[in-house]
Amino acid sequence: MDERLPVEKALGISEGDAHIFRNAGGLVTDDAIRSAMLTTQFFGTKEVIVINHTECGMMTASGDFLSEVLRNSGIDVDQVTVDPALPELKLPKGIFSKWIKTFTDVDEICTKQVELLRNSPLIPEDVVIHGYIWEVESESLRRPYERLSQKVNTSEAMGTQKHKQTELVVEIGTLIE
Ligand SMILES: [Zn+2]
Repeated sequence: MDERLPVEKALGISEGDAHIFRNAGGLVTDDAIRSAMLTTQFFGTKEVIVINHTECGMMTASGDFLSEVLRNSGIDVDQVTVDPALPELKLPKGIFSKWIKTFTDVDEICTKQVELLRNSPLIPEDVVIHGYIWEVESESLRRPYERLSQKVNTSEAMGTQKHKQTELVVEIGTLIE
């Protein structure tokens, strides 16, 4: 969902050429699978491209840290409804931090997202699936591990906050982009 990732420009396509779904981190969440399943199974889509990006806010804090910030603001992350339209969908206790899905290495996470889609029984086997990384620093698209520039690609470089800090809740907006 990062505003620095111009999807059409990155892929050299025009507006209306692709179904584009964006989320924090560019991750294969249940909702991403839902959209990918619909577009590939029912709308004729034959190719899926995952695009992650460098300097991603999802590398700036751990899930546990974010959960703690939410808990400190009075949100019970073990009971909260994650899909208001489907209250039956409950996260087991202690899973919320994992559900946020922060990560520590953009090359690794991109490769993993492609694997997750390839292994999903909801995506037809003949659908071609690629992963690319948008380098914010060079404004270029590259394959995972084929670095064009030499800037932020890991949580270490992003200064991940793993421990409790006396941050204001308002910081959350910038932590998750
Ligand atoms: Zn991001």
